[in-house]
Amino acid sequence: MACNAPRQVAAAYKTLWERARSNATHKARGWTKRQYKGLDKAPQFTALTVTLNHKRDWSLGQNQTVSIGTLEGRIRCRYEGWSRHLEWLAHTAEHGITLGAAKLWQDPITQAWYLLVAVEKVLDPQALTQITTIKGVDLNRRNIAVESNTRGKCRFYHGGHQRHLAERAASIRSALQAKGTRGAKAVLRRLALRERRLNADTAHCVSKTIAEPHAMVGLEWLKDIRNRTERRHSKQASVKRRRTNRKVSSWRFADVQAKTAYKTRLSGGVPIWVDADYTSQGCSICGHTGKENRPNNGLLFVCAHCGHTLHADLVAARNISMRTLLIRQDWVRTGRLSAAPEASGDEAKAARLSRYAELRWSPDASSVL
Ligand SMILES: [Zn+2]
Repeated sequence: MACNAPRQVAAAYKTLWERARSNATHKARGWTKRQYKGLDKAPQFTALTVTLNHKRDWSLGQNQTVSIGTLEGRIRCRYEGWSRHLEWLAHTAEHGITLGAAKLWQDPITQAWYLLVAVEKVLDPQALTQITTIKGVDLNRRNIAVESNTRGKCRFYHGGHQRHLAERAASIRSALQAKGTRGAKAVLRRLALRERRLNADTAHCVSKTIAEPHAMVGLEWLKDIRNRTERRHSKQASVKRRRTNRKVSSWRFADVQAKTAYKTRLSGGVPIWVDADYTSQGCSICGHTGKENRPNNGLLFVCAHCGHTLHADLVAARNISMRTLLIRQDWVRTGRLSAAPEASGDEAKAARLSRYAELRWSPDASSVL
């Protein structure tokens, strides 16, 4: 436990420094004017979980038991779980799984103890030969996700119900904030937890459907999504704009992406990250790229050059699926897989973008892998 203390402090500072550094680059590029304040004073530490190292502080025993090191010595107890998780834990070698550090956490309401085990799964080199589907996933404000495979099959995850609940929660929240009493604050905290669970559940359901075995799933590399979407905070911001701001910040794209990536990997697929530039502005038929392809920034994509008209999110999903296909072809050719856009400078990125501009949508041809 003493050994974990400096590790935890270092990890906390590493994240803060990363944020400070990205803030510096964003400021230099003029994306934001705000100064990052996270390093101005020492971060507060609240321990709601205990981190346990595998084989030292925790280990699995026979008959579904786990041994955990505590301040009062080692304890051994039975555990329960979802059948598939139990199967993975029982046969780690067969599933190509390595166990890592675990976190011990107690549910404040049910008082039940949870051991959250980090699981690592290496990519099977055989996976390349077994891929049968290639798809792209577009995440945005209107729909939770839109996926399309290279054969033209698509699926929309509307999230209408989820959005309705978020809207309702937001109006309740503003009413409670206006009230400001101690009771109101307690309700607010409970509401926040409930909303977090709801968001997590939606993300789990959507990503579970997207992830499938033998699929290469392309996701957008959205490190700067919050800066990409236009935001206005001043008093001049219209009600509509403020509502959009709320939706943007409350819906966590990164969460859906992370869940999709790990579920894909666990189900035997390969998650891939591709550049997000111009995915919703490029025509997948003629290649014409530009803001004018999105009249009034609306739902519809209308190519200014060839007139190709389609749902804008579907265009984005198709573009992502084609970029994923390109990565797959590079993988076949060179034997090297670049699972995420390399940060090797603007030149390499420009080269990638010009290759993307050559891509054309043809569902029949692209089904030949
Ligand atoms: Zn076009």
